[in-house]
Amino acid sequence: MNKSIFETAQPILNNLITHDYQAYFVGGSVRDYLMHKDIHDIDITTSATPDEIEAIFDKTIPIGREHGTINVVYKQEQYEITTFRAEGEYDDHRRPNAVYFVRSLYEDVKRRDFTMNAIAMDKNYQILDYFNGQQDIKDKIIRTVGNADERFNEDALRIIRGLRFQSQLGFTLEESTYNGMKTHIASIEHLSIERIIVELKKLFAGKYVAQSYKNLMALQAFDYITFFKQFDFTKFRVNTAVEFSLLLAALKVQQPTVEIPLSKLKISNQEKKEIAKYMQLLQTLPNITSKNDLKYFVYDFGKSDITKVLNQSELLHNNHIIDLQPLIINTTTINEIYSQLPITSRKQLAINGNDLLTTLNQSGGAWLKPLLRDIECAIIRGEITNQKNEILEWVKKHVKI
Ligand code: ATP
Ligand code: MG
Repeated sequence: MNKSIFETAQPILNNLITHDYQAYFVGGSVRDYLMHKDIHDIDITTSATPDEIEAIFDKTIPIGREHGTINVVYKQEQYEITTFRAEGEYDDHRRPNAVYFVRSLYEDVKRRDFTMNAIAMDKNYQILDYFNGQQDIKDKIIRTVGNADERFNEDALRIIRGLRFQSQLGFTLEESTYNGMKTHIASIEHLSIERIIVELKKLFAGKYVAQSYKNLMALQAFDYITFFKQFDFTKFRVNTAVEFSLLLAALKVQQPTVEIPLSKLKISNQEKKEIAKYMQLLQTLPNITSKNDLKYFVYDFGKSDITKVLNQSELLHNNHIIDLQPLIINTTTINEIYSQLPITSRKQLAINGNDLLTTLNQSGGAWLKPLLRDIECAIIRGEITNQKNEILEWVKKHVKI
């Protein structure tokens, strides 16, 4: 069992306990530990308030002070410590009007989303399980803590979270939990898109995504999410785990008439670029009809992105993004072609724009870019080698300016 991460963090619990506070591991780390899964990060919950936490640790970062979360830096690692808290009334289905710091663990776990996420563990690995989360883990059931209707009414993000846990764990949604989702699905409209995307990324990367995607469809969840609601999901199938940016690219390529901009998703420029790159790749793929096309394709997109896309052949075929493939393209062919490419990036070209201007005695202009591309392609085809003189000779012979 993977105890080491808890061992490393134990001195933090000990420090809190020595100062007469209660402290427990809680949330995903305890759930994953009980399921014998790898634990990525641990959450600690304590009766100490943020001020009290800061008073007893040397290095702290107040990342979420207003909702009671302080990060403690210990041996170069950061640990999230959250004060026991209860939540006040909700009136907008997404944020409690107030959070209260409380001194009891029970009050804290009661406000958590699912029974499997409401299990606490003390420093001696003793489990405190007020809502039978362990039994639900054994039975592979996702069940809200308390009344599902109320819990989803308070915070509709829990609906998407429930589906993402289903996708990651392959658990079943308990009946009243699923019914509560149905009742409150329209409230996800009020959530911030950033919070939704955090969960959707994990959902689509989950091993059991097929089932949870079916539930997303049955609940018509995308009708209530900005950007997504413009697309026709009855035409789109997802059966296997897929990276979020590739999923979005596939959706946009499948339904090119939908004009909604990616900026609605409030994702980073880096992510937007990645989606654009995947879209280009998907649009180029069906047009490859010759060995040379294939060489240009491998040169332009690189083998790692192409391989990622080829590994999604089921998604691409199911959604008719590539129907017929005139050439046999698989990872082996791609690797072989890549290893035979004379150059793998424009940076490696033995000439640059300036060399061309001087040799041809021309001033710069729009003609330069396509010429560089022609040179690149000639080298990739093997028509000329990547040597300055040879390239310039070829240019003089083949190019009319
Ligand atoms: P992961 O392994 O993906 O980190 P996690 O269960 O730790 O899963 P987090 O988003 O890190 O999920 O949240 C930590 C804990 O905080 C959860 O286990 C749950 O107890 C609680 N929690 C998070 N979001 C909510 C929410 N919207 N409503 C109620 N409790 C929540
Ligand atoms: Mg977590």
